Amino acid sequence: SDLVGLDTLVANTAYLKAQHVDRNELKKQRHSLTLPKPKKSSALQLVGGNKYESLCERQPIGRKLFQQFLLASDLQYVAATEFLEDLNRWSIAEGETREKAKQRILTKFFRPESKSFLSYLTGEAAEKCRNLSEKNFDEVTMDQIKEATRDFLRGKPFSEYLKSPIFYRFLQWKEFEKQKITSKYFYEFRTLGKGGFGEVCAVQVKYTGQMYACKKLDKRRLKKKAGERFALLEKKILEMVDSLFIVNLAYAYDSSTHLCLIMDLMNGGDLRFHIYELGERGIRMERVVHYMAQITTGILHLHSMDIAYRDMKPENVLLDAKGQCRLSDLGLAVELPKGKTICQKAGTTGYMAPEILKHDGYNACVDWWALGCSMYEMLAARLPFKDFREKVQNEEVTRRTLEDDVKFEHRRFDAPSKDIIRCFLRKKAQYRLGFRDDPRKHVFFKNINFLRLEAGLVEAPWVPKSDVVYANNVDKFRDTSEDEDIMLDAKDEKFYQEFSTGAVSIKWQREMIDSGVFDELNDSSQNGLGFENVWA
Ligand code: ADP
Ligand code: MG
Ligand code: MG
Repeated sequence: SDLVGLDTLVANTAYLKAQHVDRNELKKQRHSLTLPKPKKSSALQLVGGNKYESLCERQPIGRKLFQQFLLASDLQYVAATEFLEDLNRWSIAEGETREKAKQRILTKFFRPESKSFLSYLTGEAAEKCRNLSEKNFDEVTMDQIKEATRDFLRGKPFSEYLKSPIFYRFLQWKEFEKQKITSKYFYEFRTLGKGGFGEVCAVQVKYTGQMYACKKLDKRRLKKKAGERFALLEKKILEMVDSLFIVNLAYAYDSSTHLCLIMDLMNGGDLRFHIYELGERGIRMERVVHYMAQITTGILHLHSMDIAYRDMKPENVLLDAKGQCRLSDLGLAVELPKGKTICQKAGTTGYMAPEILKHDGYNACVDWWALGCSMYEMLAARLPFKDFREKVQNEEVTRRTLEDDVKFEHRRFDAPSKDIIRCFLRKKAQYRLGFRDDPRKHVFFKNINFLRLEAGLVEAPWVPKSDVVYANNVDKFRDTSEDEDIMLDAKDEKFYQEFSTGAVSIKWQREMIDSGVFDELNDSSQNGLGFENVWA
């Protein structure tokens, strides 16, 4: 890194500086921003169908506004909201804090004389509520009462909310969310990596300061190599995903030359780089456990939506500035119809499961095999069936994968790590860990609290240095290809429109909340503005 060129130095400086944006300065620049008036047609579309989960739970702004509505309503609604909040706090708390949270819940919500007593409960849930004490306060019971509370909120409170001025505010946010996105929406910084159809660079949203990565796909190159279908598939899958452990999509738009995917910025380098390029090869156990827990949770999230990832390998696991990891590059991911298998060979040599290599039908279980290979690699700095930089024919790797037992010669392996790898590397998919048994239950993960991990409360055991750019020098990514001879036509335009859907609701709403824009606009437009209610 002594040989960093001047170009790279300048690019790095601008990029690093952007990450320490002055929030007050941005706030000043936003002073004239206001929420638009919702269109009646789109409003009706949103209300149609009972979309309680999406409107009041999953969308972050929807959730906040629904809570705001409930807290300004009658005592029962307030109790229900506060109960769900406290319950959530209890479920992710540990030790003394957890005990305190439990006592608080018991006195506040389960004593008939308390004004927050859960009096809306009926039937079995009401019975449980009356008899609740220290002794029968457990996760199963609390889950039942939680579900009964959600059922209650889904009824009368939800239908009242849809007619309220606060819901009108939500519609204004949804209108804002639909704004057209162009390259003018972002500042662009240095290139971080290169893919098959173009480069990936860092960008920043001008009015929020939020940093993202932008994966650019060259329109002409896509057409030349018939990659359009795959680009659209990757975008659609990225858009469905909402996990702390997968690179999520925030915006999709197009410029005259490129399709652009705006995703979480992962500036800590990929795990392949961390295994091989930083002095001592391999990664120490404490970090491996943490990464494995996050990757496992990410894979389970994909599988819960019947998506097979098919490209599990350290190179595709990226670290963020805090040292937390996410799966990236969903270009090989596919949706599997429930219970069906596929045959098409896909993956990377050294990580492909026996059933793929034998051209048998396979399912999402191939990801657990590849995870076993990846974990082995993190510890031993080589693959189970292929040594580092070994010049070997694919046929031989296939033979070893199908026939050989895995050997554990590296000193980093201990009993639990060997066992979980053996379970992931069972040659028959139906005996493999992850096929039926939940990998999170394995002793290898005995020190991981998955609820806290999923809530983003577990700190990473290693944090990237904030003044280092974990990427190659910019001149490595210089584009040399020429696709000038390709002409784009009306049919292509139709596809670009299908791709360019703008902001992705959940990510965009979170950005509005995190950057403070949500609070600012809500406050400023509430000042004495008894706004028109379309439903009145
Ligand atoms: P392709 O599918 O064409 O291989 P990738 O999605 O793998 O493209 O991206 C290419 C490279 O860009 C990656 O190897 C990585 O170095 C970098 N990159 C990709 N996504 C991100 C991201 N979200 N944050 C930072 N760098 C990224
Ligand atoms: Mg890639
Ligand atoms: Mg790809």
